[in-house]
Amino acid sequence: MPALKWGLIGASDIAATRVIGAIRSTGGETVGVFSGSAERAREFAASNGLAGATTDLDEILAWDIDAVYISSTNDKHFDQACHALRAGKHVLCEKPLALTADQAQAMVDLAEELGLVLAANHHLPGSPLHAKVRELVDAGAIGTVLSAKIAHAVLLPERLRGWRIGGGTPGSGVILDITCHDASVLNPLLGTPVAVSAVAVNQADWNTGGQDDAAMTVIRYERSGRPPVLAQTHDSFTVGFAGTSLEVHGTAGTIEVLDAMTQDTGGQVLLTTGAGRQSIDVDCSQDLYVIAVQAFTAAVDGTGVPTATGRDGLMALKVAVAAQESALSGRTVHLN
Ligand code: NDP
Repeated sequence: MPALKWGLIGASDIAATRVIGAIRSTGGETVGVFSGSAERAREFAASNGLAGATTDLDEILAWDIDAVYISSTNDKHFDQACHALRAGKHVLCEKPLALTADQAQAMVDLAEELGLVLAANHHLPGSPLHAKVRELVDAGAIGTVLSAKIAHAVLLPERLRGWRIGGGTPGSGVILDITCHDASVLNPLLGTPVAVSAVAVNQADWNTGGQDDAAMTVIRYERSGRPPVLAQTHDSFTVGFAGTSLEVHGTAGTIEVLDAMTQDTGGQVLLTTGAGRQSIDVDCSQDLYVIAVQAFTAAVDGTGVPTATGRDGLMALKVAVAAQESALSGRTVHLN
């Protein structure tokens, strides 16, 4: 698999803490960074060992790069991704892909039309834990799936309490940040999301941005020839001492995944059936962002598919946007 040359769009925390390392560990080259601020671009390039720094999007797209990784704030993803695709670059875009389903659909259509790879950087669908859950469910280990539950309530680190909690940047709030990740896990597992109902609140005394920092959501899934499935998620920026988990309940058993929704490798899969409870072996040694970058690189090479395609990113966003709408209106939102 040939290594890719990457341009980074967004002088972000996630690029610095996770993705630059993941790109380099796959043999990829991080050529330089685009930022809205010249000072931030220079500082980010210096502290992350990048040769290039620019505030001109056309300049970074004119560099000798194959792909861009977009990790700007959520409101910028759509314009920057379309710009990069039109310049002939493959795009690995952070989640949420965009702010509306129409925008994300347009990104997917544009990538398809131009024959370029567009992927969403959802790190969880490629996790060996979640791959194992899909494998067990597909093999009928728990019979017919009836329901699923995700606990994804965490304490937002102080360094990330900026645009995520509001203060005027569009695309903030816990639902676009975390519920979107849950949907990236539930959609490939449960079928087609058809209805979403959510309640969201603002809880933390440090949350001066005004956006919702905790939400509970219920999603109805349908799959032909099967009973409808109910999924429930608890997403929060305000809970400091809970683990994350996924439970999937079926007519013949239950799968529990402990530490299911973290950024770090680890976790445990437990299968309970009439025969008792057993721990299922899963090799969790590989970094989740490395898995995502490797899959993206293989997709560019034509030898694989991204762990979350553009279409997967679109579907995850549809659920998140429906949850936002439902939380605002107090009504269940039905998806086409
Ligand atoms: P950051 O706040 O670190 O960066 C986002 C943007 O904010 C940057 O691109 C930068 O804009 C601007 N910025 C950064 N630092 C400053 C500063 N000190 N002052 C003013 N502006 C600043 O965001 P995150 O890294 O937390 O998130 C970026 C994206 O990645 C989001 O879309 C988020 O949803 C996603 N994400 C995904 C994760 C995953 O696991 N897949 C995990 C975490 C985030 P500029 O480029 O103009 O410099």
